[in-house]
Amino acid sequence: MEREPTPWERMEAADAYVPPLLAPALKRLEAGFDRFLDDAAARTELDGLLESFAGRPTALTEALHLGRRWGGRVFLKREDLVHGGAHKLNNALGQCYLAQYMGFREVIAETGAGQHGVATAIAAARFGLKAHVYQGAVDVERQSLNAHRMRLFGATLHPVYEGSQTLNDAVNAALRVWVGRHEEAAYCLGSVTGPRPYPRIVRHFQRVIGDEARRQVRRVTGGLPDCLVACVGGGSNAAGLFTAFVDDPSVALLACEAAGAASLTFGSLGTLHGTESLVLQTPERNIAPTHSISAGLDYPGVGPWLAGLKLGGRLQSVAITDDQALDGLEELAREEGVLCALESAHAVAGARQWLARNPGRTCVIGISGRGDKDLDSYLKARGG
Ligand SMILES: *Cc1c(COP(=O)(O)O)cnc(C)c1O
Repeated sequence: MEREPTPWERMEAADAYVPPLLAPALKRLEAGFDRFLDDAAARTELDGLLESFAGRPTALTEALHLGRRWGGRVFLKREDLVHGGAHKLNNALGQCYLAQYMGFREVIAETGAGQHGVATAIAAARFGLKAHVYQGAVDVERQSLNAHRMRLFGATLHPVYEGSQTLNDAVNAALRVWVGRHEEAAYCLGSVTGPRPYPRIVRHFQRVIGDEARRQVRRVTGGLPDCLVACVGGGSNAAGLFTAFVDDPSVALLACEAAGAASLTFGSLGTLHGTESLVLQTPERNIAPTHSISAGLDYPGVGPWLAGLKLGGRLQSVAITDDQALDGLEELAREEGVLCALESAHAVAGARQWLARNPGRTCVIGISGRGDKDLDSYLKARGG
């Protein structure tokens, strides 16, 4: 028996707002994805690659010192250990697998700080696909190491010289190119955002995080955690961690946003990149400018599934300042020997606040990536 879709699943499945020229490409993608889901051999092949190439399952580490300091039990779901250094490869590997499964030879992707571009370039190399990555020219400059990485993996990087020359403009440019090239190229989208069916596809490829964490935490504690904590930019690592627990009402879900880009906490319903969701808007309903020390969280929208959870009262969200995130990064490194990404540090800070209000409980923090990429930003902010 099929159950009724939840309000958040309905929000995720809402029709896309896209140029009519893209509608057939999105339909074809949805059909290809459903064919893949019904193909047990294909799913097994991708699972094999997640293990042998990406390094899954990732560890669940108990943070004993943080547990003692904060008064509870704290577990870290270690996506920093995925090949490439973040959860992004789970999705890029899935979508590039799907691209070659559907017969494409090329993939197009957008990237902000370059993390999704790097993950796409890695996955495309593995499958022998040609990758074209669009990145705002300001970001190419700011994130030059990632630009070099992408080129080493054989991708062609296209700097975008429009608008503010950052992520929003890169998405617009990449989608425009795809309109003209969707017969020969797949589009590999980086988070649980964008037009249907991307939010569902990306959440599917990331749900491995929570599926593993559920088995791992049960093995250690014999039960379920009281709270899951994850940082939210577009929302893919959070949705990936939360999906396996969303039907367990005893498990609280906490989304940690950058205070300067907190669309779940401060946004209102609007349309961005083809989907209706919570969006940061000016009173004139233009997209509001955002700021975060972590490039991965610096996005004015959020995936519709998470927005639906928030509107339905199933998800709490909290806005974390740059300074609180820097403190979280330092505390995790010093106490546990784990250097997390600045994005993930928002979740560390949020978990600390949650345990202060809920002493003695157990929480799982999604450590979405490793922090080596952020050392420059850290040193600039904290002066070494
Ligand atoms: C890109 C990125 C994020 C934010 O993206 P989500 O889709 O919200 O997960 C978080 N952490 C790291 C390490 C990232 O690279």
